[in-house]
Amino acid sequence: MAGCSATISAPEYGESSETETTAQTIARSSIIADTHIDVPYRLQRQAADISAATDGGDFDYPRAVAGGLNAAFMSIYTPATLEAEGGSREAAENLIDMVEGFVAQSPEKFAIALSVADVREQFEAGLMSLPMGMENGSPIEGDIGNLEYFFTRGIRYITLTHSLSNHISDSSYDDNRQWNGLSEFGFDVVREMNRLGIMIDISHVSDDAFWQVMETSAVPVIASHSSARHFTPGFERNMSDDMIEALAINGGVIQINFGSSFIAQATRDYSDARSDAREQYLAENPDLVESDIYESFAETYAEEHGPLPFATLDDVVDHFDHVIKLVGVDHVGIGSDYDGVGDSLPVGLKDVASYPNLVKGLLERGYSEADIVKILGENLLRVWQAVEDHARS
Ligand SMILES: [Zn+2]
Repeated sequence: MAGCSATISAPEYGESSETETTAQTIARSSIIADTHIDVPYRLQRQAADISAATDGGDFDYPRAVAGGLNAAFMSIYTPATLEAEGGSREAAENLIDMVEGFVAQSPEKFAIALSVADVREQFEAGLMSLPMGMENGSPIEGDIGNLEYFFTRGIRYITLTHSLSNHISDSSYDDNRQWNGLSEFGFDVVREMNRLGIMIDISHVSDDAFWQVMETSAVPVIASHSSARHFTPGFERNMSDDMIEALAINGGVIQINFGSSFIAQATRDYSDARSDAREQYLAENPDLVESDIYESFAETYAEEHGPLPFATLDDVVDHFDHVIKLVGVDHVGIGSDYDGVGDSLPVGLKDVASYPNLVKGLLERGYSEADIVKILGENLLRVWQAVEDHARS
């Protein structure tokens, strides 16, 4: 499917603008679903009116419309530290309130989506759907009844854990493997999510937890914002080929994370070296706090070592290509992590106005419009529908 090698007779400029027009048309006429956008957490740190153009940030309404985005999953994210400190459930409630506020403030632009049917109807009506996914199961706080509670509040997927092992699952980022995968409660959580119709998100979990979810879930699952480990060997946060194959056999979908350090090994190497340098600097200056120097340290580091090497659009398309060659076109989609990965987004994919660039990149690799429509949203909607149907049966 890759490597379209048609002879170029028209001038190159003419052909590229034709592909661009086709890309724009596809982006506008099909449903684009992006399963991971961190705008609520961004606004919690710095308020802004996302119904109009915002200074900075990766998401606002005008840019999302320009990009053809239709179902923007709002990430209801709770920091991993709250698991021990307390307050996870309250933190999640606050972000859900905020997303409801977007809709209350601009009902002519936004609508919550509780189902695939909502997404399709709102697409026809010209409304941008804001389904909600909970990033980190910490707000469940050990009470299985909280799953139904958050379902009624509109949560339609849950990422079982985040950067630390929690009471549900171990994390790919945490050396503490207290459960060797899922906890006993975590197995119950998976079954209850199946019963209620909440999608299970295996992004962030440890490999052991992933395989246990595969054995336990009665329905396909998603990776809401993960990329292919093939390009970043040893980075457990991305999915290995074996895992992508198992996910596909179950009918699920991997939603590719655009963050440069998820995409390109060169970016990973740079940011690993920068973290090591920051840790050393903190050790030498014990009165400083990481969060206070995070940005200024990055600036100083860049002056000495050069800027962070961004991944390119082409690198991102390589991830889509890799998954498709491995398991076919039905198991890959978009989980950009916009507003969640700082300034590390690839050249050509800097914000929610950029989806047509991705479409153009896929067209240039020889993918058909029918394939691209699946990648943009239909694969994800198929999984969501299967999860809904199972819960109803
Ligand atoms: Zn994340």
